[in-house]
Amino acid sequence: MQEAQVAWVRRAVKTGLTRRLTFMQSRAVSIDAPQGYYAASAGPARPLSRLMGEARADVCVVGGGYTGLSAALHLAQAGANVILVEAETICFAASGRNGGQIHPGHRKDQSELEQWLGRQHALDLWTLSEEARYLVLELAADACDLKHGLIIAAHNAKAARALAAETEHLEKFYNYREARILDRAQTATVLGTERYCAARMDMGGGHLHPLKFARTLAARAARHGATLYEQSPAIEMAVGAKYTVRCRHGSVTADQVVLACDAFGAALAPQLAPYIAHVESFIVATAPLSKELQRQIIPCDAAVADTRHVLDYYRKSADGRLLFAGREAYWNPPNDIAGLVRPRMLKVFPSLEHVAIEYGWSGTVGITRTRMPHFGRLSPRIYFAHGYSGHGVALATVGGKVLAEAALGNTERFDTLARVPARKFPGGTLLRKPMVAAALLTLKFLDSM
Ligand SMILES: Cc1cc2nc3c(=O)[nH]c(=O)nc-3n(C[C@H](O)[C@H](O)[C@H](O)COP(=O)(O)OP(=O)(O)OC[C@H]3O[C@@H](n4cnc5c(N)ncnc54)[C@H](O)[C@@H]3O)c2cc1C
Repeated sequence: MQEAQVAWVRRAVKTGLTRRLTFMQSRAVSIDAPQGYYAASAGPARPLSRLMGEARADVCVVGGGYTGLSAALHLAQAGANVILVEAETICFAASGRNGGQIHPGHRKDQSELEQWLGRQHALDLWTLSEEARYLVLELAADACDLKHGLIIAAHNAKAARALAAETEHLEKFYNYREARILDRAQTATVLGTERYCAARMDMGGGHLHPLKFARTLAARAARHGATLYEQSPAIEMAVGAKYTVRCRHGSVTADQVVLACDAFGAALAPQLAPYIAHVESFIVATAPLSKELQRQIIPCDAAVADTRHVLDYYRKSADGRLLFAGREAYWNPPNDIAGLVRPRMLKVFPSLEHVAIEYGWSGTVGITRTRMPHFGRLSPRIYFAHGYSGHGVALATVGGKVLAEAALGNTERFDTLARVPARKFPGGTLLRKPMVAAALLTLKFLDSM
């Protein structure tokens, strides 16, 4: 994309971003904060100032989720003068609401990536994904409720065969020895449900408290000298000798810009719109489970995701609740989140019939057509990354680091990610949303076969 294309992007922002973020807020159930149980269990955060007046920085980061916070942290660590502007509060969106699951690898299997991109490129992407999980394990080591273990549960025999083949492939060609296949009986034993025919137990993955993790990143970035502003939506970008990011009450003039808005980046940079689809995902938290139920439900205490396109993903929280996510919406999401998710939860764990649901919330997952994150430049010095497609806990954290490296002049790893071909969703401005919804509903239908 050319520099000229970026100049004065002022149109859609005030309407698009505000409408989208207001929509997100309105989806949270009843008394909950938008981040539901996570906000309640992490406690209140000290509010940060909003950007007022004119400021200067080496790099302006737009967006305060994992991507932006990690970029700010790594830039500040390297001595750059960095200012981050967040439209709402730090980790207001996906980074404060997600399932907390740390997935090794990418959303696409390595064997698929090899066929698509060639062996060396696939290997480079794998190396980055390995760094991603180690980076998260290191950064989340304190006070983020970190636990090891991720189970991918096969919903049918075909999925079980694919899991087994990929697990063998990873061991043989990537020397990845953290994962092993469980048969039906072993799966039932570690999960406390008989719903699956097999599973992959991956000790390289794990789970954490997403909001605590995001706040840890923010605190570290600030300690290293990054300046973070909340309630400061970027509403336009001006290109001149330097870039000016204009917010509601002030502006930042910087040599470089990192756009880290994930699902919402198109409001500021409309040319990103064809590359990203929005899927609303719903999570509930039960009341704390009795000791007996805690022993029965996921006794191995790993995070769990099944193999369907519209998947169930769940885990136990540090205080013994089940956090269960099991439905998606592409159009008019319902208000009754508990009513939506509960039947799916009871199919997996019927013994929870009499357990109350205390929190329900939703978040917008930014997904790409390829299910690989989309990295690129809007101009030589405006970098962006979005569309982690449900694998952003680890990949957005390393993504921010890679964006920071690029802004500091080392683009090698950025290029590895930016070379993954991005594909536009079809349909243009008007038809894109219904066409994406139709495609995702087709995948949902295929899940039931
Ligand atoms: C419900 C849910 C469950 C998920 N579960 C998992 C999981 O279990 N494991 C996993 O790996 N991934 C999961 N994901 C995906 C993961 O959360 C995301 O990929 C990741 O958080 C993306 O981080 P980010 O920083 O790129 O974006 P975000 O966290 O969305 O942050 C973008 C920020 O930019 C701000 N912003 C937007 N526009 C502007 C603007 N113009 N000016 C200033 N600020 C702006 C937003 O307010 C937001 O805070 C899930 C996502 C959701 C929604």
